[in-house]
Amino acid sequence: MIVFSGGTGTPKLLLGLKELLAPDELSVVVNTAEDTWISGNLVTPDIDTVLYTLAGIADEEKWWGIKGDSFKTHDFLHSLGIEESLALGDRDRAIHIFRSNLIRRGASLSAAIDALARALCIKQKVVPMTDDPVSTMIKTPSGEMHFQDYWVGQRGTPEVLSLRLKGIENARPSPGFLELLDQEDVVLLGPSNPVTSIGPILALPGVRERLKNKMIVSVSPLVGDRPVSGPAAKFMAACGVPANDEGVRSLLGKVDIFVVDEKSSYQGDCVRMSTLMRTRTESREVAEILLKRIKCV
Ligand code: GDP
Repeated sequence: MIVFSGGTGTPKLLLGLKELLAPDELSVVVNTAEDTWISGNLVTPDIDTVLYTLAGIADEEKWWGIKGDSFKTHDFLHSLGIEESLALGDRDRAIHIFRSNLIRRGASLSAAIDALARALCIKQKVVPMTDDPVSTMIKTPSGEMHFQDYWVGQRGTPEVLSLRLKGIENARPSPGFLELLDQEDVVLLGPSNPVTSIGPILALPGVRERLKNKMIVSVSPLVGDRPVSGPAAKFMAACGVPANDEGVRSLLGKVDIFVVDEKSSYQGDCVRMSTLMRTRTESREVAEILLKRIKCV
């Protein structure tokens, strides 16, 4: 199975899936449109959360960074007058240095992630959606900015007029992504932001076409008609769709099994179950029910 992932909702589901599936039954294609360079290193927030989740070292409270990490370098840089746009932990930064050193020596993002996954003893396949630069840009009344500048720098407060994916027209799916599309029949669109996490993966040239003959399962990122966290509702409204499961469904396109939370007001054809994952036990329960449903079809 291929899972399309962002950096919070889907990793929660991966916590459960990795317990139930053999490593070669679970491959993850991860959004890269939130990637950015900070203090000389490439930060790939969604890929890192997926890697940390599969390696068992994710901070499962905040859903970014490594659990128990320290922030000595970030704090010392601050005392020197250098403000980093993201609070980077020390061990997290070591991962960024590992990856960026490979990229500086000419490796592709895919090769760097592969090396990182091996170094972290991860057995599942984790691939970036593309090796080409793609950035989610947010247009606000005071101008256009990168996703991270909007969400972290401006704390997600400015009004959102529109969004665009800079570089998407010329980006190709990564070689690992194309290989998975050749091999796998089931694609799970995880419970991640449909605009800024799943949207960029689906928007890569040729991807929607390749999904036509696959079984597409989607788990909505809305619980009780609302995002559990993050800016999904605001971004959906800016895309001209209602901020509910109707809107999620219309953004995703072809979906064969649409899983919504039991409290959703969605009226269309769907599978209803509790999709809230606050603990490892809940993640496992959601994954278990989901896998049973997929195997029944
Ligand atoms: P980002 O890359 O950090 O923006 O993270 P994602 O796009 O992967 O995840 C954000 C989305 O995950 C939000 O729209 C949340 O509503 C959704 N989400 C977070 N936790 C849960 C959960 O426990 N269940 C479900 N169904 N969705 C969740």
